Amino acid sequence: MLKDLFKKQKKYATIPSEQAKREIPEGIMQKCPRCGTIGFSKELEKNLKVCKSCGYHFSLSAPERIQLTVDEGRFFEYDKDLLSEDPLSFPNYPEKVKRDMEKTELNEAVVTGEGTVGGYPSVVGVMDSRFRMGSMGSVVGEKIARAAERAATKKYPLILFSASGGARMQEGVLSLMQMAKTSAALERLHREKVLFISVLTNPTTGGVSASFSSLGDINIAEPEALIGFAGRRVIEQTVRQKLPEDFQTAEFLLKHGQLDQVVHRSELRDTLIQLLDLHWSGRENHE
Ligand SMILES: [Zn+2]
Repeated sequence: MLKDLFKKQKKYATIPSEQAKREIPEGIMQKCPRCGTIGFSKELEKNLKVCKSCGYHFSLSAPERIQLTVDEGRFFEYDKDLLSEDPLSFPNYPEKVKRDMEKTELNEAVVTGEGTVGGYPSVVGVMDSRFRMGSMGSVVGEKIARAAERAATKKYPLILFSASGGARMQEGVLSLMQMAKTSAALERLHREKVLFISVLTNPTTGGVSASFSSLGDINIAEPEALIGFAGRRVIEQTVRQKLPEDFQTAEFLLKHGQLDQVVHRSELRDTLIQLLDLHWSGRENHE
C-alpha cells in the first residue's frame, strides 16, 4: 500500500526543464528586467507596475497613466481623429503604423485631452512607448502643440508625460520640425503665464528630450528613467571620454540641475496635485 502511494507520487512529480523554467505564462506572470524577480501581473499592477523587490518602474501605457493621474471619469480626449500620413513614402511605414494601432488600440503615440487632477482642471498629454517607440512624427507634434494652445486659451495648467525614442525616422525632417513647433506653442503658454509641468519617464531621448519635455516650468522624472539626447556610445566616441556609470539617468540629471525632482510613481499624483494647488492658490491671490 505504502509502496503504491510512493509510486503514484513519483508518477506525478515532474521536474521542469530549463526551458519551462524560463518561460513565463503570457499575461499571468511578469519578470522584472532589472532584478529578474518573477511576480503575478495582478500584484505588479496593484503596486502601480513598480517592482516590489528592486523598485524598477515598468513602462505604463497612455491609458494606464491617465487612469493613474486624472480623476476618475474626468478625461475628455482631444484630436483622436488625427492620423499619420506617409509623406516620404517610406517603405513599410503605413503597415507599421497600422500594426501599432491594432496592438495599442490608439491612433498615435500620444494621447491628449483635458480632465481634472485632484479637482484641478488640467490639460494632460501622455506618450505611449508601445506605439513606434513613442517617436514624434507630425501627428504627435501637432497633438502636443494643440494641447499647449488649448491650455493657453483656457488657462489650464499643462502636464505632459514623455516616453519616447525621439523624432520619428520615417517622417524625416517633418519630424524634426515638430521640435520647433511644440517649443513655439509652449513659448506662447509661457507668455500667458500658464504652468507647464513636464514629467519625463523611461525612456525620454532624442528630439523629445531636446524639445518640449525639457521645457517645463517644473521638470519631474520617475526614478532611474533614461533621459538623454544621443546614445552613450555615440557621445563616448565623439568626446573620446568614458562617461560616468549613472550618466543619462534621472538621478544624474537631478544632481546636475537639469531636473527639479525625481519622484517615485506612488507619490507622483500627490506631487502633481500639490503643485497644482500651489499654482492655483498663487493665481487667485494675484488676481
Ligand atoms: Zn526588480
